[in-house]
Amino acid sequence: MAEVDLAVIGAGLAGCSLIGRLQQLGSDLNIALIEAGRGPGGRTATRRKRDQSGWLLNHGAPGFNLSESMPEGMDSLLKPLRARGVLQQDKRAVLSLDVEAGLSPATSPDAWPNGGWWHGVPSMASICEALLDTAGTAQLSRQFETRVRWLEHRKDHWLLENEDRTWSLRAKRLVLSGTLLAHPRSLKMLAWDDVPLRTAIAEGVDDDLDKALSLLQHSQAEVRWNLMVDLGVLALNAEELPAQIWLNDAAKARWKVERLVLQPQSVGRWGLVVHGLDSGQAITPESQGHLLAQEQQRLVELLPKLLQALPVVSAALNQATPLGVMRWGASRPLNNPLPQELQWCPTSAVGFCGDWIAGTGFGRAEGAVSSGVNLAEQLHADR
Ligand SMILES: Cc1cc2nc3c(=O)[nH]c(=O)nc-3n(C[C@H](O)[C@H](O)[C@H](O)COP(=O)(O)OP(=O)(O)OC[C@H]3O[C@@H](n4cnc5c(N)ncnc54)[C@H](O)[C@@H]3O)c2cc1C
Repeated sequence: MAEVDLAVIGAGLAGCSLIGRLQQLGSDLNIALIEAGRGPGGRTATRRKRDQSGWLLNHGAPGFNLSESMPEGMDSLLKPLRARGVLQQDKRAVLSLDVEAGLSPATSPDAWPNGGWWHGVPSMASICEALLDTAGTAQLSRQFETRVRWLEHRKDHWLLENEDRTWSLRAKRLVLSGTLLAHPRSLKMLAWDDVPLRTAIAEGVDDDLDKALSLLQHSQAEVRWNLMVDLGVLALNAEELPAQIWLNDAAKARWKVERLVLQPQSVGRWGLVVHGLDSGQAITPESQGHLLAQEQQRLVELLPKLLQALPVVSAALNQATPLGVMRWGASRPLNNPLPQELQWCPTSAVGFCGDWIAGTGFGRAEGAVSSGVNLAEQLHADR
């Protein structure tokens, strides 16, 4: 069985920032990155189409904001990405939509955050890919399409296994960049009958871990239902349509939609992502298919109304193809951030990073990057 110094579960911004920063610091740790998805990105993921090269639809976060003055480590990590053009300021317009579906320039802090919008080029997933590139291949092995289900803590190592135990890995240290293995939500959503990290380390063995798990138990997250649409070819340049249209509070309450995201694709095609808000219906493996179909129908039916102020897009709806709904079960954490001092639990050799860690950017992409950088610096200092 393979054995590594560090196993990082999750290839989103936090896990990739952790690995990228460790590499920048000259770490000699032998690292394995394990990710349930097909590639890096997590909630900054990009959907491709098998039959259409050049189709890159950002169906999670379409961009994010960064504080104008950021910690040195984070700046060092992101600087090469800016220099390569992988991380760019998004200059396209952001509009606000009112309850009559009228459009005006966006002014709310969510829609127009301090420092403006940054995005990945050519796609949001490119940011995570570029962070991993800096890590090279010698000390990093990548394991995609593998969801860790079982965790066991033995005397001097962790044992990780997938659901049917056909894949396993030994690691001296473990980092979780998502909350799935540590939060009770997995029980309902995946019909698991235990919280894997709690099962691995019994209560009373590690005070720090007990504190972390008890805080996490009470944390809540927002659910999003994102409808993806291929609008076909539009005779418009990228700058002629807004990048995002945020519904104001009254419009959100009326239509249960947060925003519309318009993305130019190759050869004149356009993609649209509708960020739908949750109605609170519980989801189980059995109800999932039906709920996704129901939400797709609801959002598709709303589009002519929501897009009436953009005649070219509105007309394109006749030829548009819905590409399905992606349900983000925990699109953003809302409360109970994990204090930074609990990011590393030395007794159990387990650590945490992600947008659920306390600090600037909690609940946002900036917090995810910053938590990965912090943990990398801590691990490097403790080596
Ligand atoms: C629809 C949407 C819109 C958003 N809009 C914005 C925005 O406008 N601005 C902003 O700043 N932020 C936004 N966000 C939030 C932003 O995307 C996140 O804060 C950030 O991407 C989180 O990165 P992360 O690495 O912490 O987590 P993630 O990206 O979730 O990464 C965790 C990874 O771990 C993997 N994983 C978890 N458990 C396991 C397991 N057991 N085995 C294997 N792999 C596992 C997951 O598959 C995932 O890829 C948005 C998010 C969504 C979903």
